[in-house]
Formats: sequence, C-alpha cells, structure tokens
Amino acid sequence: MLTSRFAPSPTGRLHRGHAFSALTAWRAAREAGGRFLLRIEDIDPTRCRPEFEAAILEDLAWLGLDWDGPVRRQSEHLTEYAAVIEALDGRGMLYRCFRTRKDILDGIGDAPHGPVEAARPGPHAPEEAARPGPHPAEEEGALLAEGRPFAWRLSLDRAREALGDRWEALAFVEEGRGLITARPETAGDVVLARKDAGTAYHVAVTHDDALQGVSHVIRGEDLFEATHVQVLIQALMGWPTPVYRHHRLLVGDDGRRYAKRDRSVTLEQLRAGGLTPEQLRAELGF
Ligand code: GLU
Repeated sequence: MLTSRFAPSPTGRLHRGHAFSALTAWRAAREAGGRFLLRIEDIDPTRCRPEFEAAILEDLAWLGLDWDGPVRRQSEHLTEYAAVIEALDGRGMLYRCFRTRKDILDGIGDAPHGPVEAARPGPHAPEEAARPGPHPAEEEGALLAEGRPFAWRLSLDRAREALGDRWEALAFVEEGRGLITARPETAGDVVLARKDAGTAYHVAVTHDDALQGVSHVIRGEDLFEATHVQVLIQALMGWPTPVYRHHRLLVGDDGRRYAKRDRSVTLEQLRAGGLTPEQLRAELGF
C-alpha cells in the first residue's frame, strides 16, 4: 500500500511552500487509496515549540487535509534513535568529533536543505561536507575526560568497508526519473548525533520512515542531497529504501523560495486576510 507522509519541523508557522508539499504527499496517498501520515519532527529542543505544532495541525486541517493514525512526535521517541546510534557505533561505523561548532548545534534538528541554501552561508554546508576523521586516541581520551561535548559522525570509510560490493549499488528510485545512483560521499562524514541533542535529522527520519512503512517519500527538492545520505543509512541498518519524489519548490514574488525564516506569508496570515482553503488549493494546483 502506498504510504506517504508530511514531516514538518515545528520551528515556525507553515507557509505556501509547506501547503504545496503537504498537498502533494496527501494527494499521492489518497489517489492510490493508500495512507497519509503526519509526523512532527521536533528533535531540536532549542528551535521547536509546542505552539508551532498546534498551529501546524490547525493549518493542515484548515487546508482540508486528513491523516491516518496518530501523529508521531519524534521528541517522544528519542530512545529509539539513540538505539540506532548505538547499533551503528557497536559496528564501528561512527567516530566522536569534538570539532563541532556552534552552527551544527544551531541546525541539529533541521533537514540540511539543499542547493538553494548552499548558495548562502547556511549552518550545514561546510560542516556537512566535512570529513575530519577520528581524533587520535590520546587526544580523544583527554577531551572526553574534560567532559567536552562531541558529535557522532558516520565514517564513510567504515561504511564503505562494511557494505563491500553493495556500496557501488547504492541507489534509489526517483519518481519520473528512474534509478539514481546514491552518492553519499558528497555529504562527507555526516553528523548523526550530538551528545546534547541525542540525535540528528538523518537518523530520526530514516528510522521513522522504515518503522512507519513509508513507501513514498514526497518532499521538496531541497532535500535531494539528503536522500543520498539516507539511502546509505538504510543500507547499513537493513531498512528498505522508499521511492522518492522531490517536488519543485515554490518561489515567492521575489523569485526566492519560501522559507520559515524569511517573512514568507504564513497560512495563518493568508487565512486572516480572507483567503479560503479552496482558493489556496486552486492556486497551488489542487
Ligand atoms: N522535517 C524536515 C523539514 O522540516 C523534513 C523531513 C523530510 O521530509 O524528510 O525540513
């Protein structure tokens, strides 16, 4: 059965871009007689807020979306993500990295939104592509003894070793484009967990997609690069790789994509301005 999901992070109010994304994933499920899930990706306690979660549910209901089963809230499942980290660490796939900077901390619960973001100095670009490698044992021991915080990075070298021939075969189906070879190496040794935040986006999202039987990941093309990393995690964990569809991003009148941090017009503001859900859906092509 086709199962899709909408997985917003409650770090702000939803805007037109979210509405388009949610409607795209919802329609795919409904047209196929499948399931549509709503997942709240609130693993970053510094940026996620309960009032934004409540607002998301309200906005989606206003838009006329319905979802199947209970809403999954990631902050209630941190031990499950920690178990994934433990499993990968137990197999030698991870190394501690004390070289973290504040910008990783800032973006820990975020999806590393891709190309559009990369154009300006975002929190992810330099860190995500880093491959600093493990610290020398003595140095690591000293840093640990000092109680310095560290991140767990996924070692591409160890992952490649573990997968052997399967490394070259890493791939995913992109709807409308066919089979795409996964290139996890372009993202570097990604951060999978921090001591203080417990988990990072890639672990929580792949874990939940597998657990919830998501067959179709339908999301914005800014997450296309993230898929390459996620396919690797799926292979390491023995999880199925869903079919992917990375849809175009809506842009505002200024030609820039909508983003929570910009002053994009929120659904709440559109509603207050008298726009009806029918009008918005029509405008977005639904
Ligand atoms: N929670 C992520 C975000 O807000 C999206 C995750 C996904 O669709 O895979 O950007």
